[in-house]
Amino acid sequence: MYELIIVGAGPAGITAAVYAARKKIDFLLVTQDVGGQTLLSSDVENYTGYQFITGPELVAKFEEHLKQFNVGLKKDEPVERILQAKEGHFVVETKKAAYSAKTVIVASGRRPRWLDVKGEEPLRNKGVSYCATCDGPLFSKKNVVVIGGANSALDATLQLIHIASYVYLININPELGGDPIMRDKVQAAKNVKVFNSAVTKEIFGAQFVEGIKFEQNGVANELKVQGVFVEIGSIPNSNIVDFVAKNNNGEIIVDNLNRTNMPGIFAAGDVTDVPEKQIIVAAGEGAKSVLGVSRYLYQSGS
Ligand SMILES: Cc1cc2nc3c(=O)[nH]c(=O)nc-3n(C[C@H](O)[C@H](O)[C@H](O)COP(=O)(O)OP(=O)(O)OC[C@H]3O[C@@H](n4cnc5c(N)ncnc54)[C@H](O)[C@@H]3O)c2cc1C
Repeated sequence: MYELIIVGAGPAGITAAVYAARKKIDFLLVTQDVGGQTLLSSDVENYTGYQFITGPELVAKFEEHLKQFNVGLKKDEPVERILQAKEGHFVVETKKAAYSAKTVIVASGRRPRWLDVKGEEPLRNKGVSYCATCDGPLFSKKNVVVIGGANSALDATLQLIHIASYVYLININPELGGDPIMRDKVQAAKNVKVFNSAVTKEIFGAQFVEGIKFEQNGVANELKVQGVFVEIGSIPNSNIVDFVAKNNNGEIIVDNLNRTNMPGIFAAGDVTDVPEKQIIVAAGEGAKSVLGVSRYLYQSGS
């Protein structure tokens, strides 16, 4: 029986692990990968201490820090569900094993939202992608479309303009959202065309993506492209736990000590209802959650 199991090793989970190790809590870190969404970020310019660092470089720094401690890490081991056991203890189940703990920090982050149009599912990984950082290089000198209009779509577009011949941006709103600096860069690029008030209707192609159909102000249109990058936001990885309160977006509701409504279950980072989804915020929440766990374990006498 561990004192604590941390689920997820993004900025929230890794920071929680560093804090737990320094507090000498007996814990296990169970995760699908190490790094989470930060691995997908090409430029990080808002993590204090680094004026510029790539996401993978920042993750390498996090890992270096983690390796200072003797952390029990179960990697490539996605959690299938968290269960309540008797006497307020919990069981974290993966395909390979079941681990018991007095407390759990859910730091499982988010995953991309699907577009949900005809052709998306059959052409997934056949030209349809949710990660420009990972798949962008496959589209060298090809035409691609990015679907979305906020920061993740702008980030994808800014990566793709250096790889693809031409980048179309399909934005459902009348104007682009996101950070003004990124918007300006997209609008200044020579190989980008933005379609505002445009709704994607279909992705088509026999074996691989050949194009998309969309409507702009009610007028049907079509683009011939080889790649489709869906960048319309993300959803929380919260379905592994069904006995804590969540908001309408499926985010786990936490208080300012990162407690959920179930004593012993804490949550941190992008999986929670904390509105700011940022690396530094997730890291801070990860730290706070362990301080909350420590208080719970040692002050409540659990
Ligand atoms: C393309 C992109 C660019 C970004 N750029 C920036 C930026 O420049 N600056 C910034 O501050 N923020 C940026 N962000 C946001 C930032 O990456 C997130 O806010 C941050 O990573 C959230 O950290 P987290 O630890 O809460 O979750 P995540 O990073 O999502 O990590 C979740 C962890 O949980 C694991 N996991 C998920 N499900 C399970 C499961 N069932 N079992 C076990 N483990 C599981 C994952 O493998 C991962 O290790 C960007 C995001 C994206 C997508």
